[in-house]
Amino acid sequence: MVISGKELSARLKSEMAAEVAGFPEKYGRVPHLVVILVGDDPASVSYVTGKAKASQTVGIKNTTIRKPDSISEDELLGLIRQLNDDEEVDGILVQLPLPAHISESKVIETIDKSKDVDGFHPLNVAALWQKQPCTLPCTPKGIIRMLKAAGVEIKGRRAVVIGRSNIVGLPVAKLLLDENATVTIAHSKTKDLPSLTRQAEILVVAIGRPKFVTGDMVSEGAVVIDVGVNRDPETGKLCGDVDFAAIEPKASVITPVPGGVGPMTICCLMENTIECFLKRHGYSEICAE
Ligand code: NAP
Repeated sequence: MVISGKELSARLKSEMAAEVAGFPEKYGRVPHLVVILVGDDPASVSYVTGKAKASQTVGIKNTTIRKPDSISEDELLGLIRQLNDDEEVDGILVQLPLPAHISESKVIETIDKSKDVDGFHPLNVAALWQKQPCTLPCTPKGIIRMLKAAGVEIKGRRAVVIGRSNIVGLPVAKLLLDENATVTIAHSKTKDLPSLTRQAEILVVAIGRPKFVTGDMVSEGAVVIDVGVNRDPETGKLCGDVDFAAIEPKASVITPVPGGVGPMTICCLMENTIECFLKRHGYSEICAE
């Protein structure tokens, strides 16, 4: 079964749109997401455009602030502080990566935790690892959503996550652990990766290398979640970290690239923005799922 993140996210976004439509009457306004884009990297421009489009679909107000990559770190941090103080802003997202002269960790720490729709703030990360209420990072949250929507049993399964970044690998592993999977995290220093991945009942791949996971690395019936977004060096087209053509016949469930994890990430960003908005309006029963 190929899980379409595109279809699932379209359904979830239309449910959110119906919910948001009632907000002006209930709360006097709709949620407001501010996205800051520094520079004009084409991939970043495309991600930011996708976020604006999704906001429109859901009925969320989206403001995209574009700044040249010559912007100083102080100026960017000052802008974030202004948005932190703005009562009419519910979510702040600074598109990564940033130019080398700007510290990403300073930027992430400066965003108010209550407006951190990406779930990257150290206090949100700490809360996640302590099983406290928090904003879950969008990509890992989207992956768990997809697994559940596909009816995949996570509890008691052997899961292998390749990649240990703060944005994907580590939080995915934590969420799988919270769902009672037995989780192994692999990385660039892991020895004999194929023998490990062949043991996986659920395999999540977040490396950033085109078609890195080959057919012989996956066992029959495995659930395969491909997070990677790469350009195929031969065709120039978007592709994942997994050799889809070789693995799709073996896998019981697999996500495509494009149209898999990517749309779910944006969908969860919309959900996080609504959650931040509702928390600001005193609705407290949210988050830690
Ligand atoms: P990252 O920070 O570069 O981390 C890559 C991870 O892969 C690292 O932990 C690295 O290990 C590991 N790795 C690299 N080469 C390896 C190898 N040969 N064998 C085993 N592990 C290896 O990347 P990221 O931010 O997690 O992103 C990973 C991919 O997901 C990228 O393609 C990115 O574009 C994509 N992504 C997609 C979405 C989406 O919404 N679809 C969202 C975020 C990211 P070490 O720790 O040992 O270096």
